Amino acid sequence: MTHHKPDNPLAAEQHAARRALLRALGGAPLALGALHAARADQATQAQDAPAPVALNAAHVVIAGCGMGGLAVASRLRMLAPNARITIVDAKQEHNYQPGYTLVATGVWPMEKVRDRNADFIPEGVEWVQEMVAAFDPAANRLTTASGRAIGYDFLVVATGLQLGYDQIEGMDVAAIGQNGMGSVYHSPEAAQATWHAMDAFRAKGGQAVMTLPPGAIKCAGAPLKMTFMMADRLRQAGTLAQSSVHFHSALAPNTVFGVKVVNDDILARWQALGIQTHYRSRLAAVDLGARQAVFVSPEGERSTVDYDFLHVVPPMRAPDAVRHSDLPHQQGPMAAGGWLEVSKDTLQHKRYANVFGVGDINGTPRGKTAATVKKSAPLVAHNLARVMAGQAPDQTFDGYTSCPMVVREGSAMLIEFDYEGRLTPSLPMLEPLQESFMAWFMKYRLLKPLYVSALRGRV
Ligand SMILES: Cc1cc2nc3c(=O)[nH]c(=O)nc-3n(C[C@H](O)[C@H](O)[C@H](O)COP(=O)(O)OP(=O)(O)OC[C@H]3O[C@@H](n4cnc5c(N)ncnc54)[C@H](O)[C@@H]3O)c2cc1C
Repeated sequence: MTHHKPDNPLAAEQHAARRALLRALGGAPLALGALHAARADQATQAQDAPAPVALNAAHVVIAGCGMGGLAVASRLRMLAPNARITIVDAKQEHNYQPGYTLVATGVWPMEKVRDRNADFIPEGVEWVQEMVAAFDPAANRLTTASGRAIGYDFLVVATGLQLGYDQIEGMDVAAIGQNGMGSVYHSPEAAQATWHAMDAFRAKGGQAVMTLPPGAIKCAGAPLKMTFMMADRLRQAGTLAQSSVHFHSALAPNTVFGVKVVNDDILARWQALGIQTHYRSRLAAVDLGARQAVFVSPEGERSTVDYDFLHVVPPMRAPDAVRHSDLPHQQGPMAAGGWLEVSKDTLQHKRYANVFGVGDINGTPRGKTAATVKKSAPLVAHNLARVMAGQAPDQTFDGYTSCPMVVREGSAMLIEFDYEGRLTPSLPMLEPLQESFMAWFMKYRLLKPLYVSALRGRV
């Protein structure tokens, strides 16, 4: 099945509202982009001023060519033009992962989340097209999958995270999209296949079972957006009344999101939509042929649930190469996942001063979103440039995390918060926790160009 425009597009009044809003704002998309860029420029000027590293010819290795790796490489190229920069990552395709939820719910075609890393590598940066197999930070060296040793003066760890589908018994990622099973996280193809499964399911309706694992995950809002959109797609198809939507959260009672005020707002909305919640309920196993999911409580109590549609969200952890090195936290809650032991303020490694971390790999209290990378990559490049120049890092990160929470087609809430879980709204026209077409429009149209600007070091 090829991608298609959803069969129940925005209502006529919504189109009218959109036209009115755009007229009233006089080209709001440009204004918003400019606003972001202007803010970022101010921040950049402030951050970049004190870094006198123009003559530094150190070798910086960046492990990972995703959003964080590219954004830091682009910034560092400008801040330390004489440094030798090497990116190590075998991945050829660049995926705009925040778009996966739009693909998986039939809003975007898959092509919109597929680009080429080759198009984003900054000029003058060397690209070793292999994975890192092992890090040896004590020797300032890493080894690639082919056994090649690469030494460095400074290292930026930007490997993102690893999806733990293997921790769900019976799970087969090749079966995503078949027999009523979907998973938005795996890849663009899986997101598209998830939409096909959701589309087939909503035609008849039935029992939808949505899941949330324990532990840190990237874009903790994505499982919730999938749930909102499931209800909306059923409503549009006229099959909501004969269906039930269940959400199994592995977290504590009444918890589906880490920021309380957001969590409570979402639960109130779900109650109004008739979405049924279950807590301390972790997806442990699936029987894909029989369409049965097995959930387990922290005490080990197992229960089997029949489904017509299942959304699998795997637990997540650091990639093996990082997890099995000396780079992760040695103790505390971040140790088990193998997350990088960085200072949450400077994003410098706590034990290896020539190592920094950016993005999902960081063992910080919050922040596994692209929005976090957009805000923190310039800071990482700046602090690293200072260390390269023999100075101490002087920029501190507030943990900015953001998530456009899609609540139905054509409407979203722009939720932004910091390490402390305080809401930090950045756009005057967008109230947090108030759904709007404008927040949806940002997600749908504006955020990918901003993401690309961040990769190029422009915001
Ligand atoms: C379904 C979904 C929805 C999302 N929605 C949003 C959203 O709405 N808003 C938002 O802000 N964010 C969202 N995100 C999160 C966002 O995409 C990530 O936070 C962001 O991509 C993190 O960037 P990163 O560089 O840390 O990791 P990535 O962009 O994942 O890149 C990691 C790179 O490291 C490479 N790598 C891994 N292991 C190794 C190794 N051993 N050696 C070398 N390279 C390695 C990988 O190949 C990859 O290229 C979403 C993510 C998903 C999956």
